Amino acid sequence: MNLIIGSHVSFVKDKQLLGSVEEALNYGSNAFMIYTGAPQNTNRISLNNDLNTKGKELIIKNNIDFNNIIVHAPYIINLANKKDEEFRNFTLNFLKQEIKRCEELGIYKLVLHPGSHVGLGEEVGLNNIVDGLNIVLEDNSPVKILIETMSGKGTECCYKFEHIKYIIDNVKNNDRLEVCMDSCHMSDAGYDITKFDILLDEFDKIVGLNKVSAIHINDSKNNIGDKKDRHANIGYGNLGFDNIINIIYNKRLENIPKILETPYIENTYPPYKFEIEMIKNKIFNPNLIETITKYYKNL
Ligand code: FE
Ligand code: FE
Ligand code: ZN
Repeated sequence: MNLIIGSHVSFVKDKQLLGSVEEALNYGSNAFMIYTGAPQNTNRISLNNDLNTKGKELIIKNNIDFNNIIVHAPYIINLANKKDEEFRNFTLNFLKQEIKRCEELGIYKLVLHPGSHVGLGEEVGLNNIVDGLNIVLEDNSPVKILIETMSGKGTECCYKFEHIKYIIDNVKNNDRLEVCMDSCHMSDAGYDITKFDILLDEFDKIVGLNKVSAIHINDSKNNIGDKKDRHANIGYGNLGFDNIINIIYNKRLENIPKILETPYIENTYPPYKFEIEMIKNKIFNPNLIETITKYYKNL
């Protein structure tokens, strides 16, 4: 089976897209995901043409399909709450600009946490998301927004597949809406990922599997239904290695990029090179943490 695997990689000021591609290649990836700046804030630098061109050349040279490259919008974007008008306008403008940045980078998938209703209630939250997306998507662009399946932490919307269906059904330009599944989030939301084909059937019935265009692969520190959203390294959480392998190698998701967002070891060392190796071999490394620590300490 054709495996499309990668991870979140950095996007830094003086290397930009070029640095991201180099990092992804170091991990043995043929897919990757970036934030165009810090995930926690909306400060963004302007893109450097030269680094952009060099990055694209390296992508092409290594046969990475641009469909397997993803941008993730920052966490603080919250379309579900429009109480503060100033922040609302800022948010909508930011997303429109982020779409333009994606176009410049040659990336056509922008993953978005749809938002938290902060006590307004799910229905109001979902309608606010619909209103926001209608504005963000009003112009024409090849860039799609991928709504992420959320864990249900706090007042997050879209921990239920029905929420995602509601949004897709009510957004005008909904051919520009797709979905990014997240294995940790779906389990935390109460979906049983150990019976993954049943989960996919359910998603297919409610939303349509054709809408899934990326999947975040994370183990979970918590149990099914806990709504905590704490990612664990592959095989080191409650989903377990075999279940994650079954998700990754499920034939129905074969052409969809799988992106790791697992935690750095000791908050310092990226685990991806070694997690990807385990995934490719389908063999769990019980000494993963030691292997990674040793590798980076000796670099
Ligand atoms: Fe996310
Ligand atoms: Fe995710
Ligand atoms: Zn998460």
